Amino acid sequence: MKRQPSIFVSHGSPTLPLERGAAVDFLRGLGGALGRPESILVVSAHWDTARPAVSAVERPETIHDFYGFPPELYRLRYPAPGAPRLAGRVSGLLEAKGLKTEIDPGRGLDHGAWTSLMLMYPEADIPVTQLSIQSRLGPAHHVRLGEALRPLRDEGVLVFASGGATHNLGELRFQRGSPVPQPWVVEFNEWLATAILARRAEDLVGYRDRAPHAVRNHPTDEHLIPLFVAVGAGGPDAAPQRLHTSISSGVISMDAYRFD
Ligand code: ZN
Repeated sequence: MKRQPSIFVSHGSPTLPLERGAAVDFLRGLGGALGRPESILVVSAHWDTARPAVSAVERPETIHDFYGFPPELYRLRYPAPGAPRLAGRVSGLLEAKGLKTEIDPGRGLDHGAWTSLMLMYPEADIPVTQLSIQSRLGPAHHVRLGEALRPLRDEGVLVFASGGATHNLGELRFQRGSPVPQPWVVEFNEWLATAILARRAEDLVGYRDRAPHAVRNHPTDEHLIPLFVAVGAGGPDAAPQRLHTSISSGVISMDAYRFD
């Protein structure tokens, strides 16, 4: 069984599967580059709960958790099988570290999961399930979550964290027709890359105080939170790689990282 990395991917807009460009090309190639995992555990910015929850569903539905997008987006489905056994294993690993975890028998895949997976693994034949984030508990809690999940990588499970390296949708409104990357976005994005690649764990966990323009890039931090799970699952000996960098609509970083 091939050991899997943990990865962090910026998923951008829900329209991602309908778009063209560097980030889409990157994701289309990523599945082949990573190889085929036994199963996938997604940690998405779009499932945020008070305490950890993991979905255990045989046939997860494709959740269209967004409003006002083109009708064709609502017709897309990602019919991958669920991974209830993996859900049980995830719950066991987290509980063993004192992280009380709920099994959710009904929840499907949100767009943080399926829009990227549709590009990476279009055959939709790899079992997949989701673990929620707890954004109110902050970065350090999510590093702990990731550390607890690390054994999964030896069991052929791809730990797939999906969020955004930058995420200010309010500023997006002002960028229409002006796709030039904004300096305050580039500065934060590069600070983040340097901190990740240099494995500056304390800086990363304290990013809101330490990174330039942190709060402007993340008015709320649920889109960066999955990164910390990927960092924790990668472990202290991981050699992080920046797999992709591009900035969409001037303000949305599409950066992706690999930890193994
Ligand atoms: Zn999102």
